[in-house]
Amino acid sequence: MEQRIINADIITEDDKIEQGLRPSRLGEYIGQEKAKKNLKVFIEAAKQRSETLDHVLLYGPPGLGKTTLAGIVAQEMGVNLKITSGPAIEKPGELAAILNNLAEGDVLFIDEIHRLNKQVEEVLYPAMEDFAIDIVVGKGAGARSIRIDLPKFTLVGATTRAGMLTAPLRDRFGVVNKLEFYNVMELMQIIIRSAKVLGVGIDDEGALEIAKRSRGTPRLANRLLKRVRDFAEVEYDGNINFDVAKTALDRLEVDSQGLDNVDRSVLMTMINKFGGGPVGLDTLAAAIGEDPGTLEDVYEPYLIKNGFINRTPRGRMVTEHCYKHFGLENLMKKD
Ligand code: ADP
Repeated sequence: MEQRIINADIITEDDKIEQGLRPSRLGEYIGQEKAKKNLKVFIEAAKQRSETLDHVLLYGPPGLGKTTLAGIVAQEMGVNLKITSGPAIEKPGELAAILNNLAEGDVLFIDEIHRLNKQVEEVLYPAMEDFAIDIVVGKGAGARSIRIDLPKFTLVGATTRAGMLTAPLRDRFGVVNKLEFYNVMELMQIIIRSAKVLGVGIDDEGALEIAKRSRGTPRLANRLLKRVRDFAEVEYDGNINFDVAKTALDRLEVDSQGLDNVDRSVLMTMINKFGGGPVGLDTLAAAIGEDPGTLEDVYEPYLIKNGFINRTPRGRMVTEHCYKHFGLENLMKKD
């Protein structure tokens, strides 16, 4: 499938050049009030008791601020942050080495934690519960297990879906937070803040137009802001207003509801090939040439949240809102 400006799952090189855009304190982190309120209490309590914070699981679609929040937890606790990811740790020994190198109280962030392999995951159980790892030394009949104590640490795990975690792993997190899509007002605030950091002028109408097309996702809001800034600098006076934002986003083919070519192709496939559904996840994934997991985790959540698709026991169906958005009411099934 083609590269999408609107795909928050793939982190571009440009996304990484954003040190200043990442809020570093809880007070600067916009939205996610429920998760923020929770974490604030737990952080305060842990600090008062001079203890490490309990392990935290963050779940929700990509680009909503899980890594950012892990960084904030470390900042607020006054400790270091070490970042890794499920697929990056291949052997139990690699995880043991990472854990052994942590300092007391540190935050270890494991992104895509559901993708840890079983052997590696098993190292985490005693590490999370007892701050210890069991290492087997020797071979055959002489092999024995020795326990090594670890510094106390906080694991922050991130996943796109909590349901993908094994029960023993999920049960070892004391704090579980679901991150939600952001509303337009919150995205506007994020865009205005980011524009300030990037040193580009923007008015409220310009920020609103970008916010509306950012699919509830800060990573995309920042990415679209950077592209609109390019247009503003090359073709206008460098500032972003409604006209600049609209022209730039239209040219990027991100429509008024934040749908791009890939979304349109998913929805049009459902309409044209499957009569609007119901169609099963696997069948639809095959028809658009994508794997079912990606379709379900990356493409679908926004389309479902915004009422373009309904999930029914018989499969996925496009909604009346979807037909109307494309001006295809005439194709709607009457039943
Ligand atoms: P995730 O780990 O969930 O994929 P990130 O933490 O990498 O997402 O967030 C993507 C980008 O969006 C961050 O670099 C940051 O600039 C921005 N961002 C995320 N959440 C917020 C927020 N609540 N307030 C401001 N900016 C945010």
